[in-house]
Order: sequence, then C-alpha cells, then structure tokens
Amino acid sequence: MNPDQKVVTRIAPSPTGQMHIGTVRTALFNYLYAKQNGGTYFVRIEDTDKERNKEEWVEAIWEDFAWCAIPPDAKYRTSERLARHIELLGSLVDSGKAYISKEPKKDDPSQTVEVVRLKNPGTILTFHDLIRGDITIDTTELGDFVIARSLHDPLYHFAVVADDGDAGVTHVLRAEEHISNTPRQILILEALGFKRPMYAHFPLILAPDRAKLSKRKHGASIENYRAQGFLPEAIINYLALLGWNPGTEQELFSLDELVVAFSLEQVHKAGAIFDIEKLKWFNSEHMKRLPARDFELRLRTFMDVHQKEVPSYLEQVAHLLANRSQTLSEAADLLVSDEFSFMHDTIASPAKEMLLQQGKLDAVTSKNHLQKLSDLLMTIDDSAGNFTEPTIKSSIMPYADEQGRGAVLWPLRVALSGREKSPDPFTIVSLIGKEKTLSRIAQAIELL
Ligand code: GLU
Repeated sequence: MNPDQKVVTRIAPSPTGQMHIGTVRTALFNYLYAKQNGGTYFVRIEDTDKERNKEEWVEAIWEDFAWCAIPPDAKYRTSERLARHIELLGSLVDSGKAYISKEPKKDDPSQTVEVVRLKNPGTILTFHDLIRGDITIDTTELGDFVIARSLHDPLYHFAVVADDGDAGVTHVLRAEEHISNTPRQILILEALGFKRPMYAHFPLILAPDRAKLSKRKHGASIENYRAQGFLPEAIINYLALLGWNPGTEQELFSLDELVVAFSLEQVHKAGAIFDIEKLKWFNSEHMKRLPARDFELRLRTFMDVHQKEVPSYLEQVAHLLANRSQTLSEAADLLVSDEFSFMHDTIASPAKEMLLQQGKLDAVTSKNHLQKLSDLLMTIDDSAGNFTEPTIKSSIMPYADEQGRGAVLWPLRVALSGREKSPDPFTIVSLIGKEKTLSRIAQAIELL
C-alpha cells in the first residue's frame, strides 16, 4: 500500500435479523484499525437481498451501532447506490469484460432470462490475508459466474466490490466466512479496474462446546446482551480480547485505549470461545469505573426501557449498587429489593429477637448502647453536607471499639434497617439522615 494513502475500513452488515455480537467485534476491529492509522471507518448496510432484508432490521442495526458507541465517519445503504452499480455494470458489458447471457430460467426452463456473467480469465489467484497469510485458489472452477440478474439488477458480490472500490476501502476486514467470497470479488474488482485492498478474515466466535456462537441457540445478539443490562463499554472491551491478544497483562481497556493497543497482527487464526461469566466480570468492572452520576443515568434509562418503576432514592444509593451487582439488571433488582427498604420513609419495626441477634445479646446492655449512640449522633452538626460516613464513623467507632463492635453495631444496624441483612450502619445513617436515624433508634429503645 502506498504510505501516503489514507486507511479506509468499513463494516457491511446485511439487515436480515438482529445484530450478532460477532458483527460488533468486526465493526470494532475495523474502527480500531482505521483510527490507529489516522484513517476513516464507515458503516454500509448491505440491503441487496430483497427477499431476506427487512426495514425493521435496518432500523435495529442503526440503533445497535449507536448504542455500542463505535462512531463511524459515514454511514449509508447499498440500495442508495443502485444507479451507480448499474452504470458500472453497463461499463463492464461495454468493455467486453462481462456479457449478457440468454439462458433458460432456473425454475421454469420454458422461459429465458438474460443474466450478466463475468468473463472469467481463469487464473490461479493468490491473495494475501493479514491474519492467515497467502491464500491461493484456482478460479477456473468458478467459471463465468453470474454478477447480475439483468443489466438493472446487479447481485451482491458486484455491489460489494463497486461500493468498496468507490469508497476507496483499503482494508477489507471481515469474518472468516467471507474467505470463500474473496476470489469472486477480486475477479470483479480487477475487471472494474479497482485497486485490490488488503484483506483480513477474523476467526469465529465459539460457544463453550466449540459450536459457532448462535443467536438462536446462544442468544448471541447485541439486543439480548443489552436487555440483560450489559454496558457497551464492557461488551467492546470483552469482544476486543476475543480473538486478539494485547501481549500484556492489561485486561481493562476503554475504546480509546484499544485504539492505541490494538494490532491486527496479533489477532488469532483460531476461533475464540465466548464466556458469559467473563463478560459479566468486565461489566462489573466497567460499572465501577463509571462516575456515579453516569451510572445512575444508565440504570435509570435501563429501568425506564424495561418499564420498572424507579424509586426516588436511586440517586442516593447508586454508588452502592454499582459495587454490588454485575449487570444493570441485577442492580435494578437490588435497588427495589428489601435490602434497600431502609430508604423508605418508614420501616417495619424489627422484632426484639432480631435486635438482640436471636438471644446472643443482652436487652439492657443493647438498650444502653443504643442510647449512647443516639447521644453521640445527636451532637454531630448535620448542616452543610457534614453528616457523612467518615464523620459518623469517627463519632461512633471509638465507643464501638471499646464496648465490642458486634454488640454495639448489630442493634444499631437492625434498628435502622429493620432487617438482618443490609448495608453497614454508617452508610445507612449517612443516607437516611440524622432525624430518621434518631427516631428509629428511639423506636428500638422503646421496644427493648
Ligand atoms: N454483508 C456481509 C455480512 O453481513 C459482509 C460483507 C463484507 O464484509 O464484505 O456478513
């Protein structure tokens, strides 16, 4: 490749169904390669198959790509370029590199059709694959293959080549199932006089049983992972490492970090096994990395989309959720679970046995501890954001250390939450505020 030539890559999904997670990985690798070389990357929806394409899938593809946030420099649909395809096809026929062939119709041999066939020079063709090395194919086997149903109806391979050629695509980076398409496309490309791009074909993504990861069997659509509450950052990070090895110990990458670290040469030839547990790990790490406000907004949007009612206290507890769940869906469930019922205005008052840890603690002593804690908390000035976890901790901890942490903090936590399981008492106090804290402690003292 001429060193001055700008790298141009593309992802070219066909709108035949929900988007496979493998398509996102191909898009990602195309984006990374273009960006690290100062080039451009675009999305082209290949809506050439009139029988199998659906408008709803076109919409879904745009939406999925927008959600994944791998920003293209341009986007369009193959069908918008039909006039140009027809022009190029005509020029091939005019120059004698392709010809109109009158032949019996396949499903009704009594009728004839006029298809367009490429005049195949019939050579032994070698192309270089950046991942697999040289691939050689005897193209005589392909014969004069059909490139258009008529002069006005070019077929898929012709459209791909015309679009790539006109867009100046320098690198065709795609899934390995397209290796067998490459010789046909190179023959068309040579007939049209376009420059041959570089090729790389990525290995398959496999299920744990080494079968091809499928949308139907394994739910491998981007839509499905999104509905399960995975973040695009985590999906991108995990997909980058499926088939590519950074050569270091680093696992967590942002998109920008990937642009720097990625290398096409380090993409494996062998298929990579998709592990949902690993994806969950990436997701929890990326949830923790999000600024609290950002996490809150994502969770709110997720709950809105899934028509789950968002409790008023989401904002206050968002930081706790991010650390205690692996997906947005888990975080949403946790948020509305009893574990956060202490955030409600009133709580079910705890049973005496629960306050006394089922008889492990003494009622009189526990009552005295609660009274002392109430006195200590009372003295904290709660104006102007002063009633925080560290302040609360430093006011209570010396007393708890002196009297025994369990004996002091257990009744406090149960008094505040009404539950055996809850976040720690400092967190609860800081979240519900001084007034509610004191009144819940008073209630528990009463009970004891
Ligand atoms: N439209 C093809 C697909 O959805 C991709 C073709 C290509 O990348 O050349 O798999």
